Amino acid sequence: MNIVTRIAPSPTGQMHIGTVRTALFNFLLARHHGGEFLVRIEDTDKSRNQPEWVEAIWRDFAWVGLEADKRFVQSEHLPRHRELLKKLVEEGSAYISKELAKDGSGREVAVVRLKNPGQKITFNDLVRGEVSFDTTDLGDFVIARSIDDPLYHFAVVVDDHDAGVTHVMRAEEHLSNTPRQILLHQALGFPLPTYAHIPLILAPDRSKLSKRKHSASLEHYQAQGYLPEALINYLCLLGWNPGTEEEIFTVEELIQRFNVEQIQKSGAIFDEKKMRWVNRAHLQKLSDEEFLAGVKKFLSADLLNTLEENGRLAKLLPELRERVEVFGDLKTMEDGGEFAYYISEPEYKTELLLWKKDQDKNNTKQRLEKVLAIIAENSDQLKAWNKETVKATLWPLAEAEGRGEILWPLRVALSGREKSPDPFSLAEILGREEVEKRVKVAMEKLS
Ligand code: GLU
Repeated sequence: MNIVTRIAPSPTGQMHIGTVRTALFNFLLARHHGGEFLVRIEDTDKSRNQPEWVEAIWRDFAWVGLEADKRFVQSEHLPRHRELLKKLVEEGSAYISKELAKDGSGREVAVVRLKNPGQKITFNDLVRGEVSFDTTDLGDFVIARSIDDPLYHFAVVVDDHDAGVTHVMRAEEHLSNTPRQILLHQALGFPLPTYAHIPLILAPDRSKLSKRKHSASLEHYQAQGYLPEALINYLCLLGWNPGTEEEIFTVEELIQRFNVEQIQKSGAIFDEKKMRWVNRAHLQKLSDEEFLAGVKKFLSADLLNTLEENGRLAKLLPELRERVEVFGDLKTMEDGGEFAYYISEPEYKTELLLWKKDQDKNNTKQRLEKVLAIIAENSDQLKAWNKETVKATLWPLAEAEGRGEILWPLRVALSGREKSPDPFSLAEILGREEVEKRVKVAMEKLS
C-alpha cells in the first residue's frame, strides 16, 4: 500500500513545537515507507485565521526540513465541500436546520446537521489500540454553518479522502473528534483512514505545554540558535524511542528507524536541558566553516571585527565548541563580558591575583616571575605555542609550588576575572607576546 500522511495546521499564530513534532512523525512514517507527506493549511475558520501565518507555516517547515510532497490550502476546496454537503442533504443523510444563531443576535441561520444513526463506533488506533465511542450522545451535530460554510470535521474528512490520505496521525487531543469524523466518512461512503493519536507534549509540571506559559513556539528556539537538525532529533524523542539507548540521530537515520509501534501512549515531558544536550551533540558535528557561520550570527559586529583584526577568532573556535550548547549562549557570554579579555587588557583589583591560600603579594609576584622565566628558558619547546605545549612547560612548576598558587594568579593576570577558561587555553588564544605583557602588568600591580 502506498502510505499517504498529512499535517493540517491552522494559520492562527506562531508554530507550536507540538505541531512540528506531529508533522515530523507524519513525515517520517511516509518517508520510511516511500510514501507521500502532505501539508494542508486549514484556513476555513475565518474568524481565527490570519493570512500572514500561512507564509510562516511554509517558512517554518522549510527551516526544519519538513518539505511537503504536495501542498494544499483548504479554502480552495470550498466548491467541493459545498457539492458534497448538498449531496448529503439530497440523499437524506444530512439536513438543513433553521435555528437562531448562537451569538445571541436573534439572527436566523440555516445550519447543516448530520443525521446521526447513533451507533457505537470502534476503531483500531495504531498507538492506543482498540478505541470505542458511543456516538448517540453526539446527536445530530452541526457539520456546516451554512451550505457554503463547512465546519472543521466536514472539511477534514472530505480533504483527507480527496488527497488519498491513508494515515491520520495527530495529537491525542483530536481523539474525541474521531467518532464524528468516522460518522462523516460513513455518510459520504468513504473508506476509513488508519488513525494514530500521539501523546501530548507536557511541561515539566505535567500541564499541557503552552506557547503563552512555556515558550513552546518554534520561533523561540530558532531565535535562540538551535540547529534545525537538533530540534528534529529532540522532538522525535518526545513520544518515540528507537528501542535502544541511542539518542543522537540525523534525519536520514530517523527515516530508517522510525516505526509507529515504538510511539508511547503516555504524555512526553519536554526537557529543555536534554534538548540543549542534543543540540550540543549536533554542534560537534558541524564543520569549522559551519560552526563559524553560526558564531558570526550571534556575536555583535563590533566584537567580531575586533576578534578578526587581532587574529583571535579562529583560535577561539575550539574553546567555543566546548562551551556552547546553543549558539544563543554566545550572546549571553558576550553580554556577561566573557570576551572582554580577548579584546583589551583586563582591568581588575590587585587582590584578585592572590590565591585564597596565600594572600602574600610578594610570594605571588615571585611565582609569576618564575612563570616568565620558565617560558623564556623553554623557547624551543614553545615554538608551537598552544595550550598543550604551554601546559607541558608550566606543569612541573605548578606541581612543585601548588596548582592554585601558580594557576590562579596566572589565569587572573590573563583574564582579570574570577571565572574564565583555564590559563593554558587563554594563553593559546592570546599568544605568547600578550601573555608575557599581561603577566608583567600583574607583577607591577603586586609591587
Ligand atoms: N487543523 C487542525 C489543527 O490545527 C488539525 C486537525 C487534524 O489533524 O485532523 O489542530
